[in-house]
Amino acid sequence: PKSKEKVESKPKKEKNLKVTPRSQDFSKWYLDVIDAAELADYGPVRGTMVIRPYGYAIWEFIQSWLDARFKETGHSNMYFPQLIPYSFIEKEASHVEGFSPELALVTIGGGKELEERLVVRPTSETIVNHMFAQWVQSYRDLPLLINQWANVHRWEMRTRPFVRTLEFLWQEGHTAHTSPEEAEEEALRMIEVYREFAYSQAAIPVVVGRKSRLETFAGASITYTIEAMMGDRRALQAGTSHNLGQNFAKAFNTQYTDEKGDLQYVWQTSWGMSTRMVGGIIMTHGDDTGLLFPPRVAPLQVVIVPIWKKDEQKADVMAAAEKTEKILKGAGLRVKLDVSDQKTAGFKFNFWEMKGVPIRIEIGPRDVAENVLVVARRDVPGKDGKQFGVSMEEKPLVEFVKNRLEEIQESLLARATAFRDSNIVDVSSYEELKEAIKEGQWARGPWAGSDEDEARVKEETGATIRCFPFEQPEHNNVCFFSGSQASEVAIFAKSY
Ligand code: AMP
Repeated sequence: PKSKEKVESKPKKEKNLKVTPRSQDFSKWYLDVIDAAELADYGPVRGTMVIRPYGYAIWEFIQSWLDARFKETGHSNMYFPQLIPYSFIEKEASHVEGFSPELALVTIGGGKELEERLVVRPTSETIVNHMFAQWVQSYRDLPLLINQWANVHRWEMRTRPFVRTLEFLWQEGHTAHTSPEEAEEEALRMIEVYREFAYSQAAIPVVVGRKSRLETFAGASITYTIEAMMGDRRALQAGTSHNLGQNFAKAFNTQYTDEKGDLQYVWQTSWGMSTRMVGGIIMTHGDDTGLLFPPRVAPLQVVIVPIWKKDEQKADVMAAAEKTEKILKGAGLRVKLDVSDQKTAGFKFNFWEMKGVPIRIEIGPRDVAENVLVVARRDVPGKDGKQFGVSMEEKPLVEFVKNRLEEIQESLLARATAFRDSNIVDVSSYEELKEAIKEGQWARGPWAGSDEDEARVKEETGATIRCFPFEQPEHNNVCFFSGSQASEVAIFAKSY
């Protein structure tokens, strides 16, 4: 055996089930629910995170839905190395400028100083182009449509679990095309995939739009984004799709011969969604009680709590609870039967509410006698959300539970949409923008300001342009800041 080093035994962390009410302190609430519900824990290195099973399950739903869509839209998965020669990063001027402050570098390997430093990938456009340049010969090799599921490192200064971590999980799509139109179409197709995921699965009514020049991805010509409004009304960039133009192609000589035999640079895109989305789901739907997961991405959709007072009631109640579990699992639902018998029913109700399980089923001795059970909705507190006397028979039970899950999914999206819409304010002067931002809202108004103007707004208000939304409301074409002719409205907000 190696060493018998004495390991200092740290005092075990007390399990914290108390969650600060969201309405009291949003940031504290967010960290509390992540801890109490065991979604994630902090890694030993600042800004790193351990994703625990209950949190990882959500990422797995995100992955499986997106992966199927990527394949339907013609992409194949592959894998690139995590270590990238430093010289690659320097090749595209704005890329290196944007990413330099966030790079993690490897300088020693096998105990020896390396001849060339290596970058731990922060994103893979450079290494992808290095390879694409070798694989692409003629127009017949295009389009090239690939995706990779991977971890990336960005040395972020301010971090928050899921939302912004030093290392995060994501997918990054990389494509190469023969025309700018095709690349643009691809960039738009993929932001639409993200939009659809957000609406249909995460129940997050994101705003889709184009980033301002200042906020465009380092190395991209155009960045499209989905912006989500969190429960504290701060914006979260929840996914991005970039039209890279020929920027990387020119830096890496990614060329092909066209039908006429002429050498051409490819037109490219890249697009990514990360574990940040998990944070977005938490911060969109949670409430004072804790988490609240939309059924389609919920790690558990139904929890069954058997209730008995006298010992002789236990066997019947447990048998009914087990049968119910079997029926619902058989119907493809994600179900947990809470069998722990040291805890009171009241404790269990609170615990699973905090964990955000959309539906709770209660089964007591009286229910068993009548062959019925109680179904409680997490999104409707108290009696109003409870349905007594639901049949335990397979067909009506499965139908009832599935319908309720659908209703919860829809109602969470409707709720978040109403919240979003009531917190976007149309502004026609800088004063109005300042007021809206001070109130914590999103400000939307015609914008034709310069990069300097945008930086000044950020400096003075803390708000950035989240996007020029695709859906443009009617406006007077006068920039609220500069007074000059403006063809588009922009949305400003404070963001994560
Ligand atoms: P980007 O390549 O910068 O466009 O990043 C793609 C997506 O990854 C962004 O839209 C974010 O949603 C997400 N993302 C960026 N940085 C981080 C980070 N430090 N932690 C978690 N997610 C991130």
